[in-house]
Amino acid sequence: MAITPMMQQYLQIKEQNPDMLLFFRLGDFYELFFDDAELVSKELELTLTGKDCGLSKRAPMCGVPYHAVDTYVARLIDKGYKVAICEQMTDPAESKGLVERAITRIITPGTLIETSMLDERTANYILALHRQKRQAGIAFCDVSTGEFFVYQIADAEHRLLDELARIEPRELVAVESDDIAAAYAQNHGVLLTKADPAAFGTAASSKVICAHFNLRNVSELDMPDMKLGLCAAGALLDYLIRTQKNALNHIMAIRRYQADRFMTLDAVARRSLELTSSMRGHSRRGTLLWLLDQTVTAMGSRLLKNWIEQPLINPEEIVRRQDVVEYFVRDPFLRDAVREDMQPVRDVERLLSRIAYDTVNARDCLALLASLQATPAVAARLRDSGVARLEELCDMLEPMDDIVSLLESAIDPDAPLSVKEGGIIKKGYNAELDDYRAASENGKNWLAELGAREREATGIKNLKVGYNHVFGYYIEVTKSFFDLVPDRYTRKQTLATCERFVTEELKELEKKILGAEDSAIRLEYRLFVDIRDTLNKALERLSHVAQGLKEIDALLSLAEAAAENGYVRPSLNREGRCEITGGRHPVVEKALGHDAFVPNDTSLSQKDRVMIITGPNMAGKSTYMRQVALIVLMAHIGSFVPAESAEIPITDRIFTRIGASDDLYGGQSTFMVEMNELSNILKYATSSSLIVLDEIGRGTSTFDGLSIAWAAVEHIADVKKCGALTLFATHYHELSELEGSLDGVVNYRITAVERGSEVIFLRKIVKGGADHSYGVAVAALAGLPDSLVKRARQIMARLEVKDEKEGSIGQSILDGRKNGGTRQLELTDFQPMEIIEEIRGIDVMAMSPIDAMNFLFKIVEKVRRI
Ligand code: ATP
Repeated sequence: MAITPMMQQYLQIKEQNPDMLLFFRLGDFYELFFDDAELVSKELELTLTGKDCGLSKRAPMCGVPYHAVDTYVARLIDKGYKVAICEQMTDPAESKGLVERAITRIITPGTLIETSMLDERTANYILALHRQKRQAGIAFCDVSTGEFFVYQIADAEHRLLDELARIEPRELVAVESDDIAAAYAQNHGVLLTKADPAAFGTAASSKVICAHFNLRNVSELDMPDMKLGLCAAGALLDYLIRTQKNALNHIMAIRRYQADRFMTLDAVARRSLELTSSMRGHSRRGTLLWLLDQTVTAMGSRLLKNWIEQPLINPEEIVRRQDVVEYFVRDPFLRDAVREDMQPVRDVERLLSRIAYDTVNARDCLALLASLQATPAVAARLRDSGVARLEELCDMLEPMDDIVSLLESAIDPDAPLSVKEGGIIKKGYNAELDDYRAASENGKNWLAELGAREREATGIKNLKVGYNHVFGYYIEVTKSFFDLVPDRYTRKQTLATCERFVTEELKELEKKILGAEDSAIRLEYRLFVDIRDTLNKALERLSHVAQGLKEIDALLSLAEAAAENGYVRPSLNREGRCEITGGRHPVVEKALGHDAFVPNDTSLSQKDRVMIITGPNMAGKSTYMRQVALIVLMAHIGSFVPAESAEIPITDRIFTRIGASDDLYGGQSTFMVEMNELSNILKYATSSSLIVLDEIGRGTSTFDGLSIAWAAVEHIADVKKCGALTLFATHYHELSELEGSLDGVVNYRITAVERGSEVIFLRKIVKGGADHSYGVAVAALAGLPDSLVKRARQIMARLEVKDEKEGSIGQSILDGRKNGGTRQLELTDFQPMEIIEEIRGIDVMAMSPIDAMNFLFKIVEKVRRI
């Protein structure tokens, strides 16, 4: 038996799209065959069936109903697959032979436009990467909004991963040999699309760019310094055009992405400061974004997230945002009024992509209309603010009267989702349509009249005129009146209790009525397509309105958060001065309540640049350091900050090294991760950076750890090597001895008092170092058995006696330094050797509390014997 024509068609299309799951339209279903079917039936738990199609074996098959396809595709995209949608291009009812089929769209994680598959509060970027020697050209685009950026960076081996962490693409397009792209894709579960190297060539990419943006030459873009960036842009556009099968009119411009406008934040800092995703649970709750996001629209929320991910470093730009925030903070009534005005505004930015894709429906048009109708009130309220940025934003809010009156007059407020079944266009918009509708309306009267006349003429009292889809209009007569049926009636259908007939007159009427209905639906669709075209031509103007609205929304949100939580406007300086009075951790304060949180001051400057922070476990050291980092970061996005007053230095980069985590996937132990992070900080921090170090050297033995921590402080405090503003929390109290001997180092401790065996946390930071960590007392709070706590206290007491006898380790290092320059800690600094050998290389912190205690007992016993 020969392969059926349908299967030949399938195989041909599949061959051209080997790396995607092919959804092949067959009537009311999309079917998958062979390997695709086996995979999808497993992934989506669908029943696997089979189809005879002329092959030796039945072809494995599974399918989904066409109207529910979005849900199934969304789940596959989420799992990182690509999907090709193959549609029927001719009407099966009218086709002679095989229905024509073609791929209408390829859906990948980075090219989504369907609202149902997108997170409305997160941009969805696809990024193309073109590397040459140490440079990289980068282009990225959010197809759902039409944003398209290009830039290039030097020192790609080091910077590229940070750039990817900032943009967080959902799909990468790169050549197969690009190892950084491959590593990033694998570690972050991002789809890597391997592109043909030729697509990145200068000639090929220029050709695509010129064709899309209607240029004679790429030089018209005025980006002579972007050679590699434009190669990436060309390859990205080429991929988008090939997969989307659409003109992509909403991608209206290539914009230069100025990475140097923004503070550098690597993936570690983003994660540990919990900017947009919490460390535990990876949710929005408990993050800075969660706290600041009081936006009214989804597009405003996306912009705010973007701002938090990309703090500015140009003070003028920051001040422009601050001015607007201050204007709103001062006037709660205005804030309420504008937020109220903005309530009807929908996600206009993402509507633009649907307009460009011709997938916009009448409901989308109504959403656009409501947004545009709301806009003039927003503009009117903010026009005379006298605040420069706000006035610029108001200028972007063009009233769009032409579009508003078109949509108002054309679109029925009760329009359905489908654009092909009528009911979209309002009465009075088009005379021809009104005529058709009148004909089908009148038809009902004509039928009623015909029924009355026939009843009169035949004497059949219960004669009625009806309609069904298969037989059309009919006259129905029940059995008891059969003898009164006249000859001019033609029998159409026999039922158990009645017969159905037609007459010549009824046939004529049917033609008129059904013809009018069909014509009305066809005409409605044509009118709707015209409206869509008009919207398409207005894309650029609509995009301006969307930009204006979303920025006003984001600024309002910052003001709302500032007013609600009692934040102040920080001043900015370039002298490295960080003076915060009454600073608070914004998220912890929100969780504990304003009154329960103890505010703290910070005073850092080029002179006093390294704070060594000691204090008991649980005292609040991490909270304090994160609070300083967050206040500095918030100031750079234009937000007000949780403090009584704040002077913030313009900061090029915030580094953090907080908490223990291992990267087993990347093949690194906890200690290795810690050392990698430290090494990265020491390499890249400048005197304009802020460094937050929490417990350096904890993941190894005490002496190794202390040595590393000590040397790290020496390096950071040295203005020739680094000189960054630094907060360094530690339980190595020996480090306090650096104050006075190392320029720029100041000791602080977070206070607690001991009452009996209990520790009371005061949470206040004061000058001076601590000499206790109260670790045993905190362990007791955590519920360790009483007997164990008691024993630990005994051990502590003996260790302390020993420490007093032998003198402080810190002093011994300092003495060594004085005597022989920068001497590293030597094992011989510590006696006795036997014990040192025992402790060396053992990670007490990584042990369970019981094991750690047992280990300590052993050591203490040995000390006793010696
Ligand atoms: P460890 O040394 O054990 O890591 P730590 O000193 O870093 O502890 P944090 O984790 O910062 O302590 O704080 C412990 C808890 O104390 C926080 O979860 C928070 O609930 C509370 N806390 C911290 N700072 C304050 C503050 N200023 N006001 C009120 N509560 C606070």
